[in-house]
Amino acid sequence: MRPDTPAENVDHTAEAARLERTAGLYPEDAEALLLQAAAHLELAGDRPAATALYDRLLSSESSLDNPSLVRALKASNLWEYGHEAEARAIIDGIRTASPRDPAAWVIAAEALESHDELEAAHETFTEGARLLLTDVPEPPYSTHPLLFGRHRVRRMLGVSHDDWDTLADALHTSAITLDELHDPKRVWALGSDNPAELKAEIVRLRAELGTYREALSRPFPVAVLHWPADELAELLEAYPSLSAEYSSHEQHLATIEASLRELASSGTPNLGIVSGTVPSYEAFAASEGSSPADPTLLPQYATTLAARGRAVAWPPQKGAVCWCGSGNPYETCHGTPAPLD
Ligand SMILES: [Zn+2]
Ligand SMILES: [Zn+2]
Repeated sequence: MRPDTPAENVDHTAEAARLERTAGLYPEDAEALLLQAAAHLELAGDRPAATALYDRLLSSESSLDNPSLVRALKASNLWEYGHEAEARAIIDGIRTASPRDPAAWVIAAEALESHDELEAAHETFTEGARLLLTDVPEPPYSTHPLLFGRHRVRRMLGVSHDDWDTLADALHTSAITLDELHDPKRVWALGSDNPAELKAEIVRLRAELGTYREALSRPFPVAVLHWPADELAELLEAYPSLSAEYSSHEQHLATIEASLRELASSGTPNLGIVSGTVPSYEAFAASEGSSPADPTLLPQYATTLAARGRAVAWPPQKGAVCWCGSGNPYETCHGTPAPLD
């Protein structure tokens, strides 16, 4: 099963409209769908329309899972088109509210950082880290951007490492170390003798910032479709033509893990798994005016589940059980280093 990866040239305005329609079909998932619609509108450059969507979500704030994240995204968007005072006021409100969600802290701190408010960005990252990482032995993946962003800002401020910076270095697994990536000498020491190189470094740091921002609000998490054993059996009994896609349940599980590893090794961020059920797949096919027997619907079904906020992040957190439902730790199940053939 190949995930339905988004094309380079997405019509963001059309995608936003499609997501808004889908939100009408699945009101229980409206928050995830409308946040993604707003991200598309931002990418389309229609920031006022994105603000209108954030306001629409915030008008029913009590029903939101993560109102602080919506407010942070709204502030970040507002600041991008000249509404600095309003953005600052919202960010101050988020800091006061002390949300338990790392993404709200990261978006707020990065909004400050991208407008050169490094001290305030540092304070915001630190407040978030203190709240979410005090006495936490294994920081969840969702908190890594908090540590990496804090590390970046502290390097730019020329502050020496503390324990959280050391932790950030240990958690960062890409080929380039965080210290190399965030080396302030590469940024600031160049100022006098090589402005071109300085400029290039700033562009690179900004790009890194953009990558984190994109990973958090990426319009579509790249999700692979997983059928639990009983659902797969039911699916193939009802629609035998789909057997061409799935030779066995065991092979299906191995293919999921292999696809995700391939995507991860090619640098695709924000990977996940969505679990299908036959009734929800049939309902999806009906809403598309198509037959469940059509295999081309499968990736669209996965994408729609992901857009509805149903994706479970992959890989699982260290020590967590495997995504396949075996109940065994991921490291000794589908997470074993050897490829599963
Ligand atoms: Zn470091
Ligand atoms: Zn497994």
